[in-house]
Amino acid sequence: MKILVTGGAGYIGSHTCVELLNANYDAVVLDNLSNSSEKSLIRVKNITGKSLEFYKADLLNKKQIMTVFSDHKIDAVIHFAGLKAVGESVSMPLKYFHNNIIGTLNLLDVMNDFNVKNIVFSSSATVYGDPASLPITENFPLCATNPYGRTKLMIEEILQDIYRSDRNWNIALLRYFNPVGAHKSGEIGEDPFGIPNNLAPYISQVAVGLLPRVSIFGNNYDTPDGTGVRDYIHVVDLALGHLKTLPKLFTNPGLVVYNLGTGFGYSVLEMIKGFEAASGKTIPYKIVDKRPGDIAACWADPSKAETDLGWKADKTLSDMCKDAWNWQKKNPKGYR
Ligand code: NAD
Ligand code: UDP
Repeated sequence: MKILVTGGAGYIGSHTCVELLNANYDAVVLDNLSNSSEKSLIRVKNITGKSLEFYKADLLNKKQIMTVFSDHKIDAVIHFAGLKAVGESVSMPLKYFHNNIIGTLNLLDVMNDFNVKNIVFSSSATVYGDPASLPITENFPLCATNPYGRTKLMIEEILQDIYRSDRNWNIALLRYFNPVGAHKSGEIGEDPFGIPNNLAPYISQVAVGLLPRVSIFGNNYDTPDGTGVRDYIHVVDLALGHLKTLPKLFTNPGLVVYNLGTGFGYSVLEMIKGFEAASGKTIPYKIVDKRPGDIAACWADPSKAETDLGWKADKTLSDMCKDAWNWQKKNPKGYR
């Protein structure tokens, strides 16, 4: 089976490529490297001892996508490619709509032309907005609070419409909670360009001495210690969720939706303590104002994925922190 992985050089994509190759899938990666390095794919080959095909190509360029489909008989697409920085999406909404929506439309058009109608789409827990209760199940109401989230919601809706119009499509919408950690080898991991927006890479960069301290965005939320609570999931567990989704897709399920989370929430302070334990370093922090748009708490009910796919995240917070730290200390400047 040959899987096209868009955005495969990125953080979640590279970890998924490792698991695909380990499971004897053939992988073809399409990535424009706008937020990643080709080095991640060299490391994927080193970890697995297997090769994959890489196309430095842009989803905004339909001809480049067509070349990939002409060169390979693709069985399914895992579509990671997209821009993902919430703050940047607020200041540059057009860039986000253009890249994420037009890029996806181009991909879907070419898939349709080549009669490849199996797709796994990277959605996000952000499509639940500020949930009325916890844990979050897949049938909670959806709402986007920023342009990035709106692209995820719009693409989910586009895929729903495509499925309504043509029942030959098989579509899995995977709503990720908060991916953290790295492959246990420390060869691949999260490598944000510039100052990280997300908590885990920020803490790692403080631990390794690149940044002076963590700014905790508010400590008076209605949570046990007042700091924000999220469902952090090890990126390898998340990658394995895709591996469990593919066989399901090949049973012609139509359109399916799954939360990929652990079902547990951890606070910002618990994350900092976890990284301190993993790194043996003290991680300085200060409390600052809340980040506009942040919600107090969010965690998944992942039981549908367990029942339908036989998938369950099994790595602990300690695994996540240890593996993130191992990657960070081996690669203080990421792939650079
Ligand atoms: P990432 O930025 O590391 O990977 C995305 C990849 O897509 C990058 O390698 C980038 O170069 C590529 N890309 C972007 N636009 C492209 C285009 N037009 N053509 C070709 N390649 C393009 O991000 P990630 O953390 O690995 O996230 C993967 C997917 O999962 C994204 O769609 C993201 O929105 C979604 N997601 C991520 C998180 C998270 O916290 N990391 C949470 C929920 C959902
Ligand atoms: N957070 C923080 N400082 C940071 C980055 C994040 O206190 O520098 C908090 C944020 O308010 C939230 C949690 O950490 O409660 C996770 O934030 P992240 O941006 O990683 O994920 P998201 O908010 O998208 O779930």
